Amino acid sequence: MHWAPVGVLHLPLKEGGQGLKCLYTQVRVFRLQALQRLLYTGSLAWSILVHTFLPHFQGLLYDWQLFYLCPRGFPRDLSRLPVFYQDLLRTWKLFLTTRSVAATVGADLLTEPLLHNPQLRVQVAESHLVHQRLVLAEVTRVGDLLDYDRRDWLDPLTLAWRMGLSSPRTPQRVLQEVKAALTPAARAYVNRGLREGAPRPSSTPGPLDLSIGPLPCRSQQTPHPFTASRLHKLQPVSFQIAPRKYLYTLTLHTLHAHTLVSHPDTKWRDLLPPLEGEQPRWASLYSTLVPRPAGDISWRLLHGAVSMGVFLTRFTPILDTCPFCNVRETLAHVYLECARLQPLFRLLTNILLHFWLHFPPHLFIYTLPIRGPTKS
Ligand SMILES: [Zn+2]
Repeated sequence: MHWAPVGVLHLPLKEGGQGLKCLYTQVRVFRLQALQRLLYTGSLAWSILVHTFLPHFQGLLYDWQLFYLCPRGFPRDLSRLPVFYQDLLRTWKLFLTTRSVAATVGADLLTEPLLHNPQLRVQVAESHLVHQRLVLAEVTRVGDLLDYDRRDWLDPLTLAWRMGLSSPRTPQRVLQEVKAALTPAARAYVNRGLREGAPRPSSTPGPLDLSIGPLPCRSQQTPHPFTASRLHKLQPVSFQIAPRKYLYTLTLHTLHAHTLVSHPDTKWRDLLPPLEGEQPRWASLYSTLVPRPAGDISWRLLHGAVSMGVFLTRFTPILDTCPFCNVRETLAHVYLECARLQPLFRLLTNILLHFWLHFPPHLFIYTLPIRGPTKS
């Protein structure tokens, strides 16, 4: 189609869009903001409900720890949660969310997830079968592997029995991998807790140290060198203090990635390569000095969203040739090459020459500012 993709329309004016608000993006941003309030504002009345729903989800016994799991290991079937929480988790999965470090002490360490936790990397627990068995045995967190009565880690045979396995080989591997993954400080904390017979883990972990950013590009399409997408330029930020503006930009570019990544900022990149380092001055199209219709037509021209014979002929029974010179009516022809335009260009060249200025076609296609001769 010759019209601009919907993702482009939702971009801000200064990035080449029309600044239209995207409702899908707005809803996702509301979810992220609700999550920010839930995670970092301790006294929300409805957070009691969340603490009720989340730990029972899929038998994982995870509360906030659900937000630590890597997207690959995240449960696909969210149907057992209320719709709002399903949406919350679906929104979370759209982004790359990471912690700087795993917990090393306290209840946070004891509730550290064993399953699909990028910080612990318990490889054996990545297996679907082992995952199921661990959930069945209610051993899904580091603290669940501790036997406070024996003042030691769980016996592999006991764990095998709880997992319904005849051999202790898999439980042994789980224990080995968890012990190896813990930092020296974390191991020391666990050993001290076992020696002193610490109570079982509390279910109220501390504030989450999470950052949010774009997922690595998974699109099959080749990114355009001058892509309209800003996804590759967005750096992860702390989720606790991520401003709404950042969340909106991140969500907008994530939801529309498939159209924006392969879309150039302007159709003219190939037709009329810009001068060194130049790019469209989108904001100038909608300055108070430019009449709105003129700004609109320049915007459509830069995006190639104008009626031309080569496109119209696909839908209507008309010729694809220029009515003035019978050449195939392409974008470049209509605005640059048509014989009927050449006298106008010559006139403009002569007028500008009177002021010692050069008239390149970039001037009106890319709406570049007119530059006079410098003293040098
Ligand atoms: Zn023509």
